[in-house]
Amino acid sequence: MTTQPQDDTLYREGAPIQDTKAPDGPLEQKWSHRKDHARLVSPTNRRKLTVIIIGTGLAGGSAAASLGEAGYQVKSFCYQDTPRRAHSIAAQGGINASKNYRNDTDSDFRLFYDTIKGGDFRSRETNVYRLAQVSGSIIDQCVAQGVPFAREYGGLLDNRSFGGVQVSRTFYARGQTGQQLLLGAYQALERQVNAGTVTTYTRHEMLDLIVVDGQARGVIVRDMITGEIETHLADAVVLASGGYSNAFYLSTNAMGCNTTAIWRAHRRGAFFANPCYTQIHPTCIPVSGEYQSKLTLMSESLRNDGRIWVPLAAGDTREASQIPEEERDYYLERTYPAFGNLVPRDIASRAAKKICDEGRGVGPGGLGVYLDFADAIARLGQPLVAEKYGNLFDMYAQITGEDPYTAPMRIYPAVHYTMGGLWVDYDLSSSLPGLFVIGEANFSDHGANRLGASALMQGLADGYFVLPNTINDYLANGPYAPIAEDHPAVVEAADAVRDRITTLLEANGTRSPDSFHKELGHILWEHCGMERTDAGLRQAIDAIRKLRATYWTDVRVLGEADELNQNLEKAGRVADFLELGELMCIDALHRRESCGGHFRVESQTPEGEALRDDENFAYVAAWEWAGQDAAPTLHKEALAFENVELKQRSYT
Ligand SMILES: Cc1cc2nc3c(=O)[nH]c(=O)nc-3n(C[C@H](O)[C@H](O)[C@H](O)COP(=O)(O)OP(=O)(O)OC[C@H]3O[C@@H](n4cnc5c(N)ncnc54)[C@H](O)[C@@H]3O)c2cc1C
Repeated sequence: MTTQPQDDTLYREGAPIQDTKAPDGPLEQKWSHRKDHARLVSPTNRRKLTVIIIGTGLAGGSAAASLGEAGYQVKSFCYQDTPRRAHSIAAQGGINASKNYRNDTDSDFRLFYDTIKGGDFRSRETNVYRLAQVSGSIIDQCVAQGVPFAREYGGLLDNRSFGGVQVSRTFYARGQTGQQLLLGAYQALERQVNAGTVTTYTRHEMLDLIVVDGQARGVIVRDMITGEIETHLADAVVLASGGYSNAFYLSTNAMGCNTTAIWRAHRRGAFFANPCYTQIHPTCIPVSGEYQSKLTLMSESLRNDGRIWVPLAAGDTREASQIPEEERDYYLERTYPAFGNLVPRDIASRAAKKICDEGRGVGPGGLGVYLDFADAIARLGQPLVAEKYGNLFDMYAQITGEDPYTAPMRIYPAVHYTMGGLWVDYDLSSSLPGLFVIGEANFSDHGANRLGASALMQGLADGYFVLPNTINDYLANGPYAPIAEDHPAVVEAADAVRDRITTLLEANGTRSPDSFHKELGHILWEHCGMERTDAGLRQAIDAIRKLRATYWTDVRVLGEADELNQNLEKAGRVADFLELGELMCIDALHRRESCGGHFRVESQTPEGEALRDDENFAYVAAWEWAGQDAAPTLHKEALAFENVELKQRSYT
């Protein structure tokens, strides 16, 4: 690998890193080898060990339930009023598993291969193969919990397809898969609450990580009702705090999703991997105005039956029903005949953008393409279409006032998921001993682009099956020496949190946190969104730095510290988004190749497809915090491909 010229003012290059936990040997045997050889903690010792878990979504909820069941003392935190309101509840379309119920030759290897290829060869083979291996157990676990997956007439579990694959391996519960899975995890969690192994702290927001002698030993949280700053200490800390799509202001994520937990941990020493890898989902309801604060996803499952098209001619403003078949362009089916409407998200999103840039978009401002169910309704009948997608159609009708049964949906790409996150090794341990990261909060499995229905799979794999095995190896050294609440590291962390709150409240400027957030979102969407250029990213870094400086003097935070104060909560989160946004742009700038969701205009094929540069960029970019306003340090983890051939992706 050749070293790229680095821009010293923006970042420095540090020593390479590597994962040391994945055992040697054949890919298929690595996980059983690791499980068999990781150290154990005896049942009597487990109850002497405390684990803090931040997050109660599918990753955190399943991990808390599993570690509680194993006998550890678990403290589970979330900022919602109940664990079951975590953002995972919004997941719609489904969860993958290589069970081959459809007898369409699916296998662990195929799921592994599709995921590696879908991620544009920018993820670790070892982690992804393990994900495929445990995928079947997730379905068994959830069925045993009573999760009502869709079934065929004969009673067997049903499957459908998601983008980037040619088999049907997605298990689903109508358009509410996340909700049903989360209720399963929540019940398992509550069972442990009842058993006394898990204590839940709702409406508590983690605002800093406590690091003692280089080890993560606890968290500082704010009780969001009373404003009290609390210290919680433990033998290990697990972050399951979800993704950071809301850095863009407008995204499909729940309004509360933020980066604070992982960003604060990053500032305390945990490396942040591939922050620029964000997923823009092709099928969302288009933005309708300047005052919008949220975008709505239309699940990828709709692409099983919906056909995407635009008028052949630019500037055609006729109603969809007035455009005859021969004057329509089913551009995905035309360009990618092998996968058609089910190409991966990054490809479908870019294709939609390109079509709209050509002036062939539909709806207000020409920023939309049609997702049409007329053929499916003619083929299957409206009742069957309603049975499969009814809640999504209802949602679309309520938001747009249009009836998708009689006129095609209008959709456009929107920010949806973040593949980047805290760097973790095969054990899901961050670069900071004692700090584990699971679910969307880590970077582990999806490379530069995540395939549909694989986030739920990863979150539950991490929480039910991976972490409960690997964390033992770390905890086997415990219980660690008790830490007193007046330990200097604890006091320093708590004071830092209080000072920050005071600074925000006393800035007394003229602008709301929301207005800064919106401006940041515009910058990121414009320059670090679907297309990125060298000049644009430099402009963005400059603009974000100025915005960040203004923030601390001109933000106006209403209310007090010692009360329920959503303005203050938002202010802290926006401050972290401003720092993360800059790192996202630096990461995007340094990666002078196109891969997956990261499309560098300077690096494309003559056909306009993403052009990877494997010689120079086949690595994970893990960033180390170097201090406020100091250039971050880049550590490269080289990616080795021993079981798949590195080649240009093709979905034609
Ligand atoms: C609309 C939508 C539909 C989707 N559909 C699918 C799908 O069909 N299939 C699929 O595979 N994926 C889907 N995804 C992606 C998937 O839902 C998420 O990636 C996944 O649910 C994330 O789970 P998680 O457990 O990692 O985090 P989350 O579910 O986001 O949970 C985060 C938890 O962390 C807590 N938290 C965060 N910060 C703090 C803090 N500082 N202090 C205390 N607590 C904190 C929160 O309270 C919450 O409990 C969808 C995403 C969206 C937006």
